Amino acid sequence: MRAVKHVAVLGAGGLGRNMARLLDFKKSLKLVAICDTEGYAFDTDGIESAVFENLPPGHTVGDLHSGNRAADPIAEVLARHSEIDGIFLALPNLPNEFIPETIDKIIASGYKGVVVDALKRTSAMDMVFERREVLAKAGITYVTGCGATPGLLTAAAALAAQSFVEVEDVTIWFGVGIPNWDAYRATIREDIAHLAGFDVNKVSAMSDQEIEQELEKRNGLLELVNMEHADDIMLEQAGILERARVKVGGLVDTRNPKKPVSTNVKITGTTFEGKKATHQFILGDETSMAANVNGPALGYMNAGFWLNSQGIAGLFTSADLMPRWPQ
Ligand code: NAD
Repeated sequence: MRAVKHVAVLGAGGLGRNMARLLDFKKSLKLVAICDTEGYAFDTDGIESAVFENLPPGHTVGDLHSGNRAADPIAEVLARHSEIDGIFLALPNLPNEFIPETIDKIIASGYKGVVVDALKRTSAMDMVFERREVLAKAGITYVTGCGATPGLLTAAAALAAQSFVEVEDVTIWFGVGIPNWDAYRATIREDIAHLAGFDVNKVSAMSDQEIEQELEKRNGLLELVNMEHADDIMLEQAGILERARVKVGGLVDTRNPKKPVSTNVKITGTTFEGKKATHQFILGDETSMAANVNGPALGYMNAGFWLNSQGIAGLFTSADLMPRWPQ
């Protein structure tokens, strides 16, 4: 593997473009490829985030200096897989099998590096788990659920659980504030799919105007309860507690960058002395969704490089590993 790792980001929306900004700060990693639905950019000398500032809204990264328009941009990036060490999937998971099927394409391409995702739904992660053996056979080190929730908060729960001999429940309550839904279309669509009367298929078929009308009805605020979030199977698979004891919900304001509530996770358990207690981990309100998703995703990619360099391939979740700080 290369000393400065080559990173490809599939998806150039809210998270994808912000990942480029985060990578500007890292010396051990550089962005070499990024794509959206209409094109891709590829430059092994590195792509700095400033280039996106000159890209008018609605224009594809295929129009960048190092870009090309393409009918299947993901395939074009994967065709150059030998020039990539790590892939971050910043794609919408709509329909629910989109990211699992993208994994099949990565495997079929012959790629042998690290892949991380920020997948949210339990049913989608179940489909990723089905690919465990084939990922190991392909020589891919894959870490799933590496965003904020699942991700940072799930990993914090797995760490906090160590104080106890029995963990009774894990409760995640998150707050997200964004100035407009346009900046994170997939995230907001996928959140609406959790509301009563909606599901992934219904939301996938809705027009942007229908999404806007739905947000208008709720003054831009989405209250999400009992979400189908993969934090549950990740913690169950780690042997910490049954999935039914993991609860995830939150409040998303699509009209104000200020978080409506502080994002936190509470872990309640009993110690070996028989004392019941609750640990709580609260994120700073000033940290954005992009900071809390992309930071952990990059840290887990770096943990993946560490494992991969030792010949360890296969599937892990963010609750199995500690992220490793990328310089
Ligand atoms: P977005 O809608 O802003 O951007 C998605 C990007 O993917 C766009 O550039 C789009 O052009 C591109 N894309 C879509 N289909 C494509 C295709 N077939 N080929 C190539 N490119 C394609 O999305 P976002 O709001 O940045 O969210 C990205 C993902 O991150 C979503 O799946 C979301 O659920 C997930 N997410 C996870 C967490 C977490 O904490 N785990 C938090 C927020 C978002």
